[in-house]
Amino acid sequence: MTDPSSLPPAADWGQDILERLERLARHSEGGPGVTRRLATPEHRAVHGLLADWMAEAGMTVRQDAAANTCGRYEASEPGAPALMMGSHQDTVRQGGRYDGILGVVVPLACIKVLHDAGERLPFALEVVAFSDEEGLRFGTGLFGSAAVVGRPRIEDLERRDDAGVSLAQALRDFGLDPEALPSAARRPEELHGFVEVHIEQGPVLEAEGLPVGIVTDITHGANMTVTLTGVAGHAGTVPMTRRQDALAGAAEGIQAVEARCRASDRLVGTVGQIAVEPGASNVIPGACRFSVDLRSPDPALLKDAAADLEARLAEIAEARALGLDVERRYKLPGCPCSPWLMDQMEAAVVAEGIAPRRLFSGAGHDAMALREITDIAMLFVRCAGGISHNPAEAITAGDAGTAARVLLRFLRAFDPAGRAAAG
Ligand SMILES: [Zn+2]
Repeated sequence: MTDPSSLPPAADWGQDILERLERLARHSEGGPGVTRRLATPEHRAVHGLLADWMAEAGMTVRQDAAANTCGRYEASEPGAPALMMGSHQDTVRQGGRYDGILGVVVPLACIKVLHDAGERLPFALEVVAFSDEEGLRFGTGLFGSAAVVGRPRIEDLERRDDAGVSLAQALRDFGLDPEALPSAARRPEELHGFVEVHIEQGPVLEAEGLPVGIVTDITHGANMTVTLTGVAGHAGTVPMTRRQDALAGAAEGIQAVEARCRASDRLVGTVGQIAVEPGASNVIPGACRFSVDLRSPDPALLKDAAADLEARLAEIAEARALGLDVERRYKLPGCPCSPWLMDQMEAAVVAEGIAPRRLFSGAGHDAMALREITDIAMLFVRCAGGISHNPAEAITAGDAGTAARVLLRFLRAFDPAGRAAAG
């Protein structure tokens, strides 16, 4: 049995974790906050840092064909199946320093403690820093984890970034072979499960005075791009009654998103991007394109809401004589976390002297993709004000250290047989 006193104290350990996160956050395309996209110099720098830290923690390191940084801490018996942990290295535009990368740094901190103590577990530990979850550069989303579960996004390789560089070319420039993307796939029998540590991105833990919580389910989501096409014209000469103003139609459409989502407390919807053509102050907008992001814990409700919205958009377009195109960009199938893993995580939370709180995730995570090949669990960490996707994202050293202590307790007590027992 391991001496439980070999857990580092939360405050000191958390301070070290925050310092590492601070170093990673410096690799940003510019402030405020952190902007780090797939296959950029900033991504390369972060890969380098993580690879160094993985090596220091006694792990073997590789970069897979999807640009994921992968480390493995061997089991007492080499080649044994692994418990995989991790999260994403990328951020939204002007995001924070914890969303994603915290779930890489905390497991590494735990493995470093095991390595320094010469401690091996009867299963391997792997940590993956997924290359692209937010999809900021190419409008992808879960690109890294999709490849790991054997669903490489071949169709996304021709997507282009704002500079016109294709995803395939970006991977080549990063020293990778896009043709090899399928080789990133892992097999279910290689894994016991997947655990993702992540900031909560919501206010529940803070409101209840708890440092960590155990996730029960991950939200279902749907994302579409709506394009309304009208007729561009002179802002002075075309009478109001004869206009086909694409932006005015979009304004009505955006309000329809809000109205539909306000009709249920189990539904949220956001329009976060809009583009207007030709985009001049004295020209009637001829085309307008906007994003719609819908989420719900209830897949049936989500489907209904998306259908209602498309019908409403069609009415708006017809009334205004506008062309309408709705492109369904991606669907995030929500998923439940695995009860046997939740139970083991809960035991670790209780052992740390914390009231176990189970909660739902309204945000999507890499764990959703991993669910396709293995069982998953998530540990949420309290964040200030529930704020994320924002430079103001913040956690305390104490909470970071507590999350690491919970995870290390979980790892030392982890029993893969719980899976078989759960059927
Ligand atoms: Zn995230």
